[in-house]
Amino acid sequence: MTDYFSTVPLIDHHCHSIVDESRQGDVEAMIRVTSEAPSSYPLADLKERLVWEAVQTIARRYTKSEWKQEEELGAILKQQDYKAYCRSLFKDAGYQALFVDTGYAPAASPSLGKLADLTDAAVYPVLRLEKVAESAFQTAAAFSDWREMVLSQVKAAREKGYIGAKSIAAYRTGLNLHEVEEREAKASFEAWKQSGSGRLADESLLNYLVWTAAPLLAEQALPLQFHVGYGDPDTDLRLGNPLHLRDFIETFTPMGLSVVMLHCYPYHREAGYLASVYNHVYFDTSLIVPLGVSSARRVVAEALELAPYSRYLFASDAHTRPEMFALAAELFRDAFASHLDDPLVARYTSVEKREAWTNQVFHLNSKKLYLGID
Ligand SMILES: [Zn+2]
Repeated sequence: MTDYFSTVPLIDHHCHSIVDESRQGDVEAMIRVTSEAPSSYPLADLKERLVWEAVQTIARRYTKSEWKQEEELGAILKQQDYKAYCRSLFKDAGYQALFVDTGYAPAASPSLGKLADLTDAAVYPVLRLEKVAESAFQTAAAFSDWREMVLSQVKAAREKGYIGAKSIAAYRTGLNLHEVEEREAKASFEAWKQSGSGRLADESLLNYLVWTAAPLLAEQALPLQFHVGYGDPDTDLRLGNPLHLRDFIETFTPMGLSVVMLHCYPYHREAGYLASVYNHVYFDTSLIVPLGVSSARRVVAEALELAPYSRYLFASDAHTRPEMFALAAELFRDAFASHLDDPLVARYTSVEKREAWTNQVFHLNSKKLYLGID
């Protein structure tokens, strides 16, 4: 990797919070964060993976310690000055800003202000639509109150400091989004009230939520992110294929809504295709880079087979452990450099062009898309 690729700053347009110092020595969390497996999955198997070796390599580098027995690791992590440790990991990785999905945060995570202090990066929140819907559900007795509460929060998002919104419809009922009549949504809301559950899992109501929020987001120039593809087993991966988003994309992107597909693996090629044929469609390959260490170069190259460099964004989807942010950045820099250094790419492009594309993907695209800064 040439020096150039290691110094360009990164904006992470999709990530979550890390833990605070009270859990800095939590080794089990460090192992589990290398996988999307549920907590019932054996730790012994999680440790027989390249990504766990990679995380330990980073921890060794930054703690300047060797451990023979894994039992020593917790004590070594606890001895670190946590703020100094986090800051050096984030600084060396080149993180300039973090766009944080607060819809998922690990136990004992700091406030966003404290996260900014721990990482020395600018931190901006992303509004999780399903969370808004579920918290309004706690207080709204009638459908009309719920609708009013949800939509007023969506309308005020930019003013409140949010720089985008996110939906996890893929996790609940799938990406085959469609328009739902108010009558049907009202009946679903009433059934939800009867159910005794606080979790929004009804297909009609989820569709209604996303479909009604979309134009309000477009008016504020707030991009809408979708969880796409790979995730924990709570998601039905068959329904997380971004090709299901076709109707949604064709309805809302002509109004100016920007649609951002997160993670995408193993559908990163489909996502790249969509970004190559529809205006206002963007994507990333977070999560697989860093978790799929050995395939990072291939995945990045596949993602970019068709898609413009102006539609592909860096993200880590890291959370809980600062080492994961470091690994995501390191692997992404390596994979992107290897893609642009490919002799075939190099044959047709100038150094200046390749540097311009690197800047777009690493930080400029996110700056323009979410913050409106050219
Ligand atoms: Zn995420």
